[in-house]
Amino acid sequence: MDKPIAIITGASTGIGQSLSVKLSEQYLVYLISRNKDNLNKTKELINAQNNDCKIIVSDISRNQSINDIYSQIEDKEQIELLINNAGIGVFKSITDTNIEDWDNTINTNLRGSFLMTKMIIDDLKSKKNGKIVFISSVAGLQPYKNSTAYVASKYGLRGFASALREELREFNIKVMTIFPGAVNTPIWDNKGMDELRKDMIATDDLTETIFHAINAPNNCVTEEMTIRRTSGDF
Ligand code: NAP
Repeated sequence: MDKPIAIITGASTGIGQSLSVKLSEQYLVYLISRNKDNLNKTKELINAQNNDCKIIVSDISRNQSINDIYSQIEDKEQIELLINNAGIGVFKSITDTNIEDWDNTINTNLRGSFLMTKMIIDDLKSKKNGKIVFISSVAGLQPYKNSTAYVASKYGLRGFASALREELREFNIKVMTIFPGAVNTPIWDNKGMDELRKDMIATDDLTETIFHAINAPNNCVTEEMTIRRTSGDF
């Protein structure tokens, strides 16, 4: 039987890459991000495990991208899982946060997740089956200074996912929100965090934990899950 389809945004690096490689064991994964070379690196990792994937180069913050992505998914009836993972981090004081920073952050982290969810929702509803995962952050649960745009996007994501969950219960669609602490990924490049990175959560450890949540059996769903370092936040 054909594998069901998982669509993963932000699959080119970091958490999205790690999740894509793991989920390719179980799904035909569609990898989405803007950088084709990096998507191809994820594809190589997946192919090295004798699994398969498709690449779609796209910017999820743009309306038109969503139509382009949807038209490239071949067997839409097979769509079972969406991981809304793509995100950017702007860590600046409110004085230094300009309008472009604000718009880019909200449009990628929050609006992009809304657009991707809209894209597939009717397919999942008509099947009365499916899973949607939002990669939020501990910054979606508590505030941090010098992060207004990021924190606003992640609090917004929690609100969106929570309302969506209520709406989709009757359609047997599982909605999960994951709140990770600091994870060692390229999001921290050039952010003055180099000394701490080795002590952050490793992407594959995070993936392993999320994988179990996604595979909760039968009528169980992990609605919200916070994943921190055992020793707590920095
Ligand atoms: P990352 O390595 O920088 O990954 C971000 C991914 O998002 C990349 O694949 C990037 O690919 C993609 N992306 C960014 N803007 C996009 C757009 N407009 N359209 C399509 N793809 C886009 O960082 P990460 O840490 O793995 O972040 C993944 C998610 O985890 C984010 O939502 C982040 O907020 C969340 N998170 C991270 C941490 C952490 O400490 N690392 C903690 C909690 C939550 P392209 O550049 O190729 O587009």
